[in-house]
Amino acid sequence: ATAVSGRHLTKTYGSGDAAVHALRGVSVDIPAAEFTAVMGPSGSGKSTLMHVLAGLDRADSGEVHLAGRPLSGLAEKALTRARRDRLGFIFQQFNLVPTLTAEENILLPLRLAGRRADEEWYDTVVAAVGLGTRLTHRPSELSGGQQQRVAVARALVSRPAVIFADEPTGNLDSRAGAEVLTLLRRCVDEFGQSIVMVTHDPLGAAHADGVVFLDDGQIVSALREPTADGVLA
Ligand code: ADP
Ligand code: ADP
Repeated sequence: ATAVSGRHLTKTYGSGDAAVHALRGVSVDIPAAEFTAVMGPSGSGKSTLMHVLAGLDRADSGEVHLAGRPLSGLAEKALTRARRDRLGFIFQQFNLVPTLTAEENILLPLRLAGRRADEEWYDTVVAAVGLGTRLTHRPSELSGGQQQRVAVARALVSRPAVIFADEPTGNLDSRAGAEVLTLLRRCVDEFGQSIVMVTHDPLGAAHADGVVFLDDGQIVSALREPTADGVLA
């Protein structure tokens, strides 16, 4: 099954001589219940692709399907609901609510969805991201790495069907980064969530089931974990 698919996606910023073709006809399938890494040089279109697949940004042309349904057919209100109920985001601008504490930020998606936290999973996530006594602090009182940990925890506690992560370990030291990757792996293996993650980190790619490589707005190759009989799926 496919969690998210993009077909013939194009996206251009600016126009005329200043036009930047961020996506030049990208088609990609993000398999359900798998961990997919997206890699490529800086400026190759990774963040743009993530925003388009997550319905945060519209492509100029092409189609995005979420769980088999076209995003383009959704009105803005339905799109907002789909994002809230089914998707989790760990993006580089952490988008934490400045007036809420770390803990309140982490619990916000559940609150908005009118659900309660699974306490055991909440404790697991919060312990793994290692915020400790910082849980009662507001974002402005946290370091960049700590804010990233809050954003990771916020995306994971509600167990969304699909998690979009843009360099979720980018601000973390290697040990904290490894903890986050282990958590993401558990989301896939234990809860069947689907993850698509932009990363420059070889360890990140090593945790993935498949890697998609972008260059200059195009997919240049895609690798999948060898299956048990050694054949690339
Ligand atoms: P990556 O995530 O791989 O670094 P991006 O998707 O951020 O790539 O960017 C792809 C290209 O689009 C780059 O050339 C970048 O400078 C350009 N770009 C991205 N966002 C904007 C924007 N809002 N306005 C203009 N150009 C942009
Ligand atoms: P990370 O490695 O995740 O960025 P750290 O906890 O290692 O976070 O913090 C990085 C640096 O910022 C450390 O030197 C730490 O002491 C300092 N720091 C973290 N939080 C605060 C804060 N609220 N106020 C002042 N300094 C802080």
